Formats: sequence, C-alpha cells, structure tokens
Amino acid sequence: MKIGVVIAAGGRGIRFGNAQPKQFCPIAGKPIVEWTLDRFEACHLINFIILVVPEGMKKQAEEKLSLSKYRKLKTIVEGGKERTDSVYEGLCAVDEDTYIVLIHDGVRPLVSTSLITSVIQQTKIYGAVVPGVPIKETIKEKSKGNLVLKTLSREKLYLIQTPQGFKYELIKNAHKMARSSNLKQSDDAGILEKLGEKVYIIPGEEKNIKITTCFDFKLAEMLLKEEQKKI
Ligand code: C5P
Repeated sequence: MKIGVVIAAGGRGIRFGNAQPKQFCPIAGKPIVEWTLDRFEACHLINFIILVVPEGMKKQAEEKLSLSKYRKLKTIVEGGKERTDSVYEGLCAVDEDTYIVLIHDGVRPLVSTSLITSVIQQTKIYGAVVPGVPIKETIKEKSKGNLVLKTLSREKLYLIQTPQGFKYELIKNAHKMARSSNLKQSDDAGILEKLGEKVYIIPGEEKNIKITTCFDFKLAEMLLKEEQKKI
C-alpha cells in the first residue's frame, strides 16, 4: 500500500521580502526545501515524494536544488496561483492506487520522523488528520477600526501544522470539488471541513515551525544548526 507526500513549495515567498522564493534560500548550509525533502526521504514509511515548485520555475528549481540525492522523488510539478492550486497539481501526479498521501509545507524543514510516523498511523485510523499545538496566547478578534470585538476561548483553539494526512481518494475528490467550485483554503483539511467531512487533530510539535518571517528564518536556522551539532 503506497504512502507518499506532496511537498507544497510553489509559493513565491513575497512576505519574506527576498529576490528568490524563500523555500530556495539557503539555511544552515542548504536550501530550506532540501532540509524538508531530507526528512521525508529518511522516513521508511514514505514511498514517494512529489515536489511542487512555483509556476514557470521547474527548470530553475532543478538547477538550484541538488535533487539527484532524493531516491524517493517521483516527480516535480509546477504549482498555481494559490496554495490550493499548487496542492491540486501535486495530487494529480500521485498514482491512483496510493493509500495515504501526506501534504506538507516546503517551508517547514523541522518536521520530525516521529511526527511523520504519527500522522501516517493516525490517518490509517481516522482518514484525515492534522497536527496541532495548543494556543498559548490570548486571541482576540478585532474590527477594521482596531476595536476589539471579542476574546476567543483559547482552550478550544489550536495552531494547525503540516504534514496533514489523508486517505488519497478522499483528499483527491475533495480537491477536485474545490477546484470546480473555486474554493480556496489556507490548508487542505479546510477543504474537507467545508465539504462536511470529519478531520481529527493529533498532537503536533512546537518545533515544527513554518518559515514565514525573518524571525522564523533566524529561529529555524538556530534549531537546524543545533540539530546538526547533535549528529
Ligand atoms: O503561503 P503559505 O505560508 O500558506 O505557504 C505555505 C506553503 O505553501 C509554502 O511552502 C509555499 O511554498 C506553499 N505554496 C504553494 N503554492 C502557492 C502558495 C504557497 O505551494 N501558490
């Protein structure tokens, strides 16, 4: 039973303020996305990897990244305007007889083997799972004029991460429907939720940060260097 991952690295990284998409920026010695690829390549439960790169950048990505070292890398596809579009393209490259597919942000290079394993194990049981960590801060909703509208009850709130795990047929059909109705979501589980499907939260890892800002980059660099020292 095939299990694989779609790594969404098709963003342009505009928020990062860099000339090249942030996922290609070197961090602790190699591009961010290579760190991410390493994690899945090393996990024995993963059979194949599909890498999604920005639209029109396949050739550039192949030149910038050292991809020949990834035995499990099945194919590289170009993504679309929004994350949902990119993931859809990635899912189209997955073999029909795949049992479980994980979907992971290319800019989360600190994902651990134990988290990947746990997502796979729980997906076998629940069909659709997302890792999450409890919110530590107080969250308020505000109006356009910065007036506080309400304080949300943080006991019920989680920061959701990737990899998110799905039975392949379930997520492929959901993405197909999302595409036909032009539904866009910031994560893949969000599409299933909109369609009324059940999604379960499993424990995520605080360290599994998404690199969005320069601060995230510095923090990730520190953590990756720390890991390197331990090896
Ligand atoms: O933009 P956001 O922070 O949600 O990006 C999360 C991940 O999705 C990143 O790894 C980014 O490269 C990817 N993405 C994508 N295609 C897009 C936009 C984002 O694959 N059009």
